[in-house]
Amino acid sequence: MTIVTNKAELQAKLNIHRESGLTIGFVPTMGALHDGHMALVRMANRQCDVVLVSIFVNPTQFNNPHDLSNYPRQIDADIALLSGNASEVIVFLPEVEEMYPPNEQVIQYDLNGFDLVMEGEKRPGHFQGVAAVVDRFFKMVGPCKAYFGEKDFQQLTIIRHIAQLYHSEISIVGVTTRREADGLAMSSRNMLLTPEQRNDAPVIYESLLRFVRNVHAGASVRDCKNAFIETVEQRRTMSVGYIELADETDLSLVNHPIDTGRLFTAVYAGNVRLIDNVAL
Ligand code: AMP
Repeated sequence: MTIVTNKAELQAKLNIHRESGLTIGFVPTMGALHDGHMALVRMANRQCDVVLVSIFVNPTQFNNPHDLSNYPRQIDADIALLSGNASEVIVFLPEVEEMYPPNEQVIQYDLNGFDLVMEGEKRPGHFQGVAAVVDRFFKMVGPCKAYFGEKDFQQLTIIRHIAQLYHSEISIVGVTTRREADGLAMSSRNMLLTPEQRNDAPVIYESLLRFVRNVHAGASVRDCKNAFIETVEQRRTMSVGYIELADETDLSLVNHPIDTGRLFTAVYAGNVRLIDNVAL
């Protein structure tokens, strides 16, 4: 495993690998790694010769300063986890100034309106921040396969769009959501949950699955949404931010079942925001 902290060093290492004909798999993360991240790393490992993992808590995608300061950071444990990996792994740990040089211009990205619903609507500026950091990473890294989780499905859609517009040299690979044994989607934020919140949190996935079953049995989307909110909020620690059915091809919200439908939710456990989604 090699650890690099600046762009020039990173590019020098990647160029050596490329010159020897090796392919690069890139896994961007914000650290506090768990098995969901490792599923991306394993997939990259299977499909590419060299795996690059970045760990960078991107300030521009946090619309809430408290969320940014509270975000879990555990770099030593992350490095220990990644060092157990058999193949060649490069870990990139940039400082904020490396990603956002003070004199560099801030661009507004064309996100095709994908940022106007759900996470984008509730977290103004969040996806512009994601686009800014991903665009910078893609420019630094160059041709590669880049791995992103379906856990953040709206983000994955936006990143596919950015890659199509600005980075034809990058191919995007989506990876299915890894879950705990009780169904809770793995997330770095799960470690911020109190024992009581953690105990209640599986209700999110259970209720998404119930929504899917009931829609297929003929219930209306409206009734299923109400039932979802009621069931989740029966747990005193949980409150629903949104529950939406959208077309997974373009994220347009729909009120009736469609073949390409996907359910999206954000649920608050106190201040901790948990998101999840499942195909209809
Ligand atoms: P994050 O560190 O939360 O920014 O996540 C880094 C990458 O890991 C993103 O592409 C996420 O979608 C992905 N990811 C996070 N949690 C999971 C999970 N439970 N299953 C699969 N991928 C995940």
